[in-house]
Amino acid sequence: MGQLSGQVAIVTGASRGIGAAAAIELARQGAKVSLSARTAAACNDTLQKISDLGGDAFAASCDVSDYAAVEKLVQETMERFGRIDILVNNAGIIDPIGRLTDTDPKEWMRNIEVNLAGVYHGTRAALKLFEAQKSGTIINISSGAAHGPMEGWSAYCSGKAAVFMMTRATAHEFGELGVRVFGFAPGVVDTEMQVLIRGSGINPVSEIPRENLAAAEDPAKVIAWLCTDEANDLAGEELTIRDETLRKRAGLPPA
Ligand code: NAP
Repeated sequence: MGQLSGQVAIVTGASRGIGAAAAIELARQGAKVSLSARTAAACNDTLQKISDLGGDAFAASCDVSDYAAVEKLVQETMERFGRIDILVNNAGIIDPIGRLTDTDPKEWMRNIEVNLAGVYHGTRAALKLFEAQKSGTIINISSGAAHGPMEGWSAYCSGKAAVFMMTRATAHEFGELGVRVFGFAPGVVDTEMQVLIRGSGINPVSEIPRENLAAAEDPAKVIAWLCTDEANDLAGEELTIRDETLRKRAGLPPA
């Protein structure tokens, strides 16, 4: 029996990258997992890996920028598994990359709709259940970009900074009602998002060689650990994988 046996997790953006690795790690530790991306079919590979582990998961189509779609995802998860304990607000995009005056206003706002409104949508839909059951864990995937500007990333930095405050606001309103909320910055991770960033050549992150990027399995381990009671004392906090104490507690080697 894994540490998360009996628990049910929703992971948004589970078709690849950090979301896929987190979903697989949650399943490895015994959680049943509701996978989602804009199309359910994009999650087939993640679904297969969970099935190979003997885990239980299903995939749904859900664009997190659409509140009705997120509510439907919560409903579908309840119908399939009968409960929800964990929400990982992971889905995110980096585009548009470019100096603020070079960005397309619609693309800029699309970033906010996915990265910020998407977190609000997931949180709002899940909190209705979490408040009633007086328990639940929400992990908002943050970034160093939430706390410092990076050339060419005005939308991404603005959205992630707002998600940092969303984590605090959610913890402020619901922390005493039994809901644990975490912000978690996963480090610089070898995913498709970093392929786009490298291709842009616009700031120092784009110059980091691929071999220096972390594997998605590293943040996935921390995400799964945050879902256990061992992380209770950290609820409400914005955490980073660069924190050596956190790494040790979550079972990762020193950075
Ligand atoms: P990724 O490989 O590009 O994966 C992004 C995921 O989000 C995919 O599953 C994608 O699925 C999904 N997605 C995109 N738009 C969506 C939408 N509108 N609705 C639902 N799902 C959507 O990126 P990643 O690096 O794993 O990033 C995951 C999270 O970590 C993001 O929040 C990102 O900001 C954060 N992060 C990443 C890094 C890094 O170095 N990689 C660093 C700091 C923070 P589909 O395209 O199939 O819909």
